Amino acid sequence: MTLPIANEVRPQRPRAPIPSGLALEKEIARLRKEMKAVILAHYYQDPEIQDIADFVGDSLQLSQAAAKTDAEVIVFCGVHFMAETAKILNPTKQVLLPDLDAGCSLADRCPPDQFAKWLEQYPGHKVVSYINCSAGVKALSDVICTSSNAEKMVASFPPGTPIVFAPDRHLGAWVQKKTGRDLVLWPGFCIVHEQFTERQLTKLKVHHPQAKLIAHPECEASVNSLEKIYLCMRDRTPEIVVPEDVRVRALRPVKRMLELSA
Ligand code: SF4
Repeated sequence: MTLPIANEVRPQRPRAPIPSGLALEKEIARLRKEMKAVILAHYYQDPEIQDIADFVGDSLQLSQAAAKTDAEVIVFCGVHFMAETAKILNPTKQVLLPDLDAGCSLADRCPPDQFAKWLEQYPGHKVVSYINCSAGVKALSDVICTSSNAEKMVASFPPGTPIVFAPDRHLGAWVQKKTGRDLVLWPGFCIVHEQFTERQLTKLKVHHPQAKLIAHPECEASVNSLEKIYLCMRDRTPEIVVPEDVRVRALRPVKRMLELSA
């Protein structure tokens, strides 16, 4: 199997400071018009960022919005793999990510070269990958899923089809239980989710008995800011770049997910 080459992101150029007193919301609105840009923001972004976004949604909804947009530039207020998915769907558009450090521990724990090697043990298996993975891993997959459609994506293969699920072993185990399918799980996990142990949650619940518990938090919520969004639009960097051979291979499973979710 040919290994997909690593994803690349163009290096950041040195930046001029933001002039003091600049009205950021106004400047972002001006740049958005001038650049014919759309601002997409994940639900977990701060309210001030959601307020300036053209579209707010979860991973699936943002992928759907990215697939439909006719803007020339996509400013993606989320983590790296989401912006990369937007680029996979929009090779001719410029995709900007305000903060390159907005990464995902789950995606990082499944390097494409190691995943390709591991897959060699499972010839003939279909590969279902959670969207929280790199373009390289998407390129090795048959279909992509989000947490909201994982069951449906696994069930899209006829019963008895041998299936590998990656990179989140916990989501995989949950889908396995829900669908009754026997899945081979890549042993990946998210550091953020692992920190929310049952014991810690129980302690919190004892101290705050009235509190509601909402599961599946997304991380890096505070990495974006209006300043970073303004700078990335003004300087048109950092920009997401996906090698064309990887992009073409990753496009097929992403499109399959979008078609099955329509
Ligand atoms: S919460 Fe975990 S899986 Fe979700 S984006 Fe953050 S590191 Fe990735």
